[in-house]
Amino acid sequence: LAAEDGDTRWTKSVCRYCGTGCGLYVGARGDQVVAVRGDPEDHNAGFLCVKGALLPQILSAPDRLLHPLIRKGNGFQRASWDEAMGLVAAKFQEAIQKFGPDAVGFYGSGQGLTEETYAANKLFKAGLRTNNVDGNPRLCMASATAGYVGTYGKDEPMGCYEDLDHADVFLIIGSNTAEAHPVLFRRIVRRKEAGRNVKVIVLDPRRTATSRIADLHLSFKPGADLAILNAMAHVLFAEGLVDDAFMKDQVAFGEGAEANKTRADYEKSLAACTPQAAAALAGCNAEDIVRAARWFGEKGRTATSLWCMGLNQRTQGVWVNQLVHNLHLVTGKIGVPGSTPLSLTGQPNACGGVRDGGALSHLLPYGRVVANEKHRAEMEKLWGVAPGTISPKPGLPTVDLFRALEDGKLKCLYVMCTNPGQSLPNVDRYRKAMRREGAFLVVTEAFHPTRTSELADVVLPAALWAEKEGVYGCTERRYHLLERAVAPRGEARPDLDILCDLAARLGHGKLLPFKAPAEAWTEILETARGTAYDFSGMTRARLQQSHGLLWPLPSAGHPGTKRRYVRGEDPFVPADHPLRMKFYGRPDGRAVVWFRPQRDPGEVVDAAYPLWFTTGRVLEHWHTGTMTRNCRELRHANAEALAELHPQDAARLGVKDGDRVRVSSRRGAETFRAKVAEGARLGVVFVQMHDPDHLCNRVTHDAVDPVSRQPEFKICAVKLEKA
Ligand code: SF4
Repeated sequence: LAAEDGDTRWTKSVCRYCGTGCGLYVGARGDQVVAVRGDPEDHNAGFLCVKGALLPQILSAPDRLLHPLIRKGNGFQRASWDEAMGLVAAKFQEAIQKFGPDAVGFYGSGQGLTEETYAANKLFKAGLRTNNVDGNPRLCMASATAGYVGTYGKDEPMGCYEDLDHADVFLIIGSNTAEAHPVLFRRIVRRKEAGRNVKVIVLDPRRTATSRIADLHLSFKPGADLAILNAMAHVLFAEGLVDDAFMKDQVAFGEGAEANKTRADYEKSLAACTPQAAAALAGCNAEDIVRAARWFGEKGRTATSLWCMGLNQRTQGVWVNQLVHNLHLVTGKIGVPGSTPLSLTGQPNACGGVRDGGALSHLLPYGRVVANEKHRAEMEKLWGVAPGTISPKPGLPTVDLFRALEDGKLKCLYVMCTNPGQSLPNVDRYRKAMRREGAFLVVTEAFHPTRTSELADVVLPAALWAEKEGVYGCTERRYHLLERAVAPRGEARPDLDILCDLAARLGHGKLLPFKAPAEAWTEILETARGTAYDFSGMTRARLQQSHGLLWPLPSAGHPGTKRRYVRGEDPFVPADHPLRMKFYGRPDGRAVVWFRPQRDPGEVVDAAYPLWFTTGRVLEHWHTGTMTRNCRELRHANAEALAELHPQDAARLGVKDGDRVRVSSRRGAETFRAKVAEGARLGVVFVQMHDPDHLCNRVTHDAVDPVSRQPEFKICAVKLEKA
């Protein structure tokens, strides 16, 4: 690369956007990033989608924040770092002294580097002694995590992207993979084009770019997915498409309230879950459910399931995740190349930094939980703090954290690398909480204004991805090193620097003594050693030489682990591989098939609010649009959130394409332009989530799954009128 490009310096990195984690090189001349190129030796084989390819533009965007800001009245005033950090430290100290440690909190992101998230977690849990540490992965993957932990005993997918190259059947549910994870979708398309009668089943109420390649698009009423998945299991048993030996050897039926159940009990529980009953409820064809089950269960063929926010962002998010796992467990389609459940992730480091690193309110690093005395003692020893330092009380998960800000229990909140003023459900409620008299909000951001930084008391300019160094971990347990390509713009600083500065000002400098991210990484390797995540052999030097490494990777010479659970012959993992095991996390080595009947979502349509409302992604934009709207080409592509509705709904409501319509729920309302679309489902309104000028989250529901505490962004009841 260097020879080809003269004076361009190329540093190794990874895409700043989605959880696919495409490897790339950043090309810089002087202090400017001038290009990116996909890494041909990484999993993405050199490919990037349009967002990744246009990454350089975000660094020099006109609304980059170049110096700290402190609120003065309704506006902001430029401040020095010392002044801004002094104010933040004083406010946090005062709140802790007056009201105790739980009066402060940290809200992080799946976009922070692992070292940054680790430092924040350590400072708040071991230094400030509060577990009020949560982050936006609570909004995107908490239900997937609970699904894995409950079913297999440990979090994170056991398979890898290579499974896409071996799958004969793809079951895609609650994911518009073509737009949200385009490089992975390309891999599915290639597999389909390669023959072998590959079948793609897409379950989605809407016709999408993903369903365009489907052999079967099963459109259903929002919230009926539990019924459909149970009906598929019913067909698998009824037609003998199950793996008796596998279930006998590796599966437990039920746990908790359903403990000690048998396979017969499970079959009995499915007796009434016929395709006809599910179809009547879901508004689809029973034959389609039967066909999907037959394709998924066909003997001798592999099946991979993919899902994302459509399943996770539900009040039954954990249950519906568990029902996907059930299909793999009863058919034994798991642990062989091409057969795996593979949840997709929205952010580039939600898996690595937050989920694995334990930066949620109930977690500690690498599989440990705050409620477990042994886990706390392990972390206290590793962190060099006195026994009893870490509180045994779980902190507040996201929605509760912002409710505590609303009711005054939480006085100070530090928000890093995320935009809750746009991304929270029922967002106006929490926007008010962030501006409540007596609440103190600190936001570290690369851009200003955002819908959160506009609410802050202090805004600290943060370095962007190519201006700093650290580790990102993507969907398939692959960790990448991002090298620094250029210096931060203006006075911006990496979040790790800012946190170390804050720690020193709060009297906890010894906890965060890091002069460079590499020092934090060395410490992180030790916290993972001996856990189920063990990547202690993943030194910075190895990461630098690699194109991403998959954990577990417990020693210097270890190759990394493509599949954590393996059945039979596997070309990638030898039979004597030390990480070959039964379902690793559970004492009996068996995975759990769960009994999960159909339940309504948190809100259903009625006479007052007769339409379903759902949200999703588009190819050209990402999350709250802060970065993608800073790219010229993307700003003009698909940037406005439109209210997509079915032609019959439009005709009934007297709405034409392009009309302004007001969409209201019991919580709030927003105005959009209407898009009358044949692919919309009758009775369902869809809006993309990326537009800061038209906030779909004014309408969405902040009810949460009782286990994962993940909110139900994907379903609520609305009415739609011409504006
Ligand atoms: Fe980036 Fe995701 Fe596109 Fe890959 S697929 S280039 S990670 S946005």
